[in-house]
Amino acid sequence: MAVEARDVVVIGGGFAGLAAGVSLSARGFRVALLEGKPALGGRAYSFIDEETGDFVDNGQHVLMGCYRETLAFLDQIGTRGQLIFHRKLEIEMLDGPGRRAHLRTAPLPGPFHMSAALLGYRHLTLRERLRLIAGGSRMMRMRSRDLDRLRRMSVAELMDVLEQGTRARQCFWYPLAIATLNDDPELASAALLAEVLKRAFFSRRDDSAFVYSKVGLSDLYCTAARALIENAGGVVATRAIVEGFDFDATSAISAVRLRDGRRLSAANYLVAVPPQQCLKLLPEAAVADPFFSRIASLKSSPIICVHVWLDREVTDSAFVGFIDTQTQWMFNKRRIFEQHGERHPGYLSFVISGARKLVDSSNDELLDLVINDLRTMIPAARHAKVVKALVLKEKHATMAPDPLSDLSRPVTVTPIANLFLAGDWIQTGLPATIESAVVSGRSAASAIAVRVGGDA
Ligand SMILES: Cc1cc2nc3c(=O)[nH]c(=O)nc-3n(C[C@H](O)[C@H](O)[C@H](O)COP(=O)(O)OP(=O)(O)OC[C@H]3O[C@@H](n4cnc5c(N)ncnc54)[C@H](O)[C@@H]3O)c2cc1C
Repeated sequence: MAVEARDVVVIGGGFAGLAAGVSLSARGFRVALLEGKPALGGRAYSFIDEETGDFVDNGQHVLMGCYRETLAFLDQIGTRGQLIFHRKLEIEMLDGPGRRAHLRTAPLPGPFHMSAALLGYRHLTLRERLRLIAGGSRMMRMRSRDLDRLRRMSVAELMDVLEQGTRARQCFWYPLAIATLNDDPELASAALLAEVLKRAFFSRRDDSAFVYSKVGLSDLYCTAARALIENAGGVVATRAIVEGFDFDATSAISAVRLRDGRRLSAANYLVAVPPQQCLKLLPEAAVADPFFSRIASLKSSPIICVHVWLDREVTDSAFVGFIDTQTQWMFNKRRIFEQHGERHPGYLSFVISGARKLVDSSNDELLDLVINDLRTMIPAARHAKVVKALVLKEKHATMAPDPLSDLSRPVTVTPIANLFLAGDWIQTGLPATIESAVVSGRSAASAIAVRVGGDA
């Protein structure tokens, strides 16, 4: 088939590639989306566990009310209704056996809804709570007036500047930072934390809502996005591993080369794969260009997720933070989801983010660790029997969000005229999250539309 100006090859079928493919299809482009794995979904996928009948996400994914582009993408493919919005944010935090305090937003306009949550947070003294609110406000002022300074600092350094004590860090700032940035506060960028805080907690009340998928992640977006692309005349191929590009005499890309020997040509090409895979697709000469070479300095940070089925329910809380243990968060799947397997009464999912020190531990060691933490924090779990467990390690879960990463994250438009980049690691100003992936994919689609001469 002759190549037309509106033909685009998209490489990668995660949130970024699918959001781009959908946006391009909606603008009248003909999309060929190539995914190397047997299934779409990339780092956010789910499967049904045959033994329990439950659907299992590779790691519990939480969206937030402030994920505007993600919500717009899900609206576009018609699956927003599969989300549950917990408009009243309520997080239970445990700092010892049964010792709970809650972060509960109040029915007030933002950001006062959040100030009320912090004022009621009983793990801290009143003085610490007031200092925490003052620290948050000061962080927001630095974000608008002194962003360059924030960009050079780690979260831990920012806490020194904001005069936040050990308890405030331990009970509030660090759990929040590790969950949203997926890295150690000593390493993670203060500017990224400030951006998350601004969007999620210092804006409208609905922006702070925790949003879960009622269905497995793959069912939330992969099937519907694929259908939209195909109905618009595009093609979505899995097991289609791209190995590299051919170039024409003008140094533009003329085709992608697939591992099975096929070649596919289009007018424009969008690479929506993680950074290290992106570099592997490019020829040495291109990688020598500083635009691409700095991508090599982006590092990754792991996440461990341990799924545990128990012979009983041990808590009726949906979402619990553990303070000062290696396990950071516990999600009670039976309370979060409406739809689930019935075979075992308890199904909990434990998350350890920024898990560099633990990622090489064996699955048995990791299971022992979370069960110990569970039994320490929730005494009712001491008599519960583990019926089944599943340990999922994502060694390269997300880009490490250190302050230097800001300088290495490329923009979507590259020095190669018909090559564009997307992915959660592209320069979006956000940590590597679903929202960052979708923002990057949709803005890559706009950049391609601009190049072809259509609407952005
Ligand atoms: C355990 C875990 C928990 C997380 N929790 C959250 C959360 O709670 N909230 C949140 O917002 N984010 C979370 N994230 C981050 C979120 O999952 C990612 O930011 C997002 O999925 C990244 O999407 P992407 O499209 O940029 O990349 P990917 O999902 O990695 O997609 C890239 C795709 O490209 C394909 N590919 C690579 N190379 C090739 C090739 N040569 N040819 C063809 N295809 C190729 C890959 O197979 C992959 O499918 C979590 C991540 C993990 C791992």
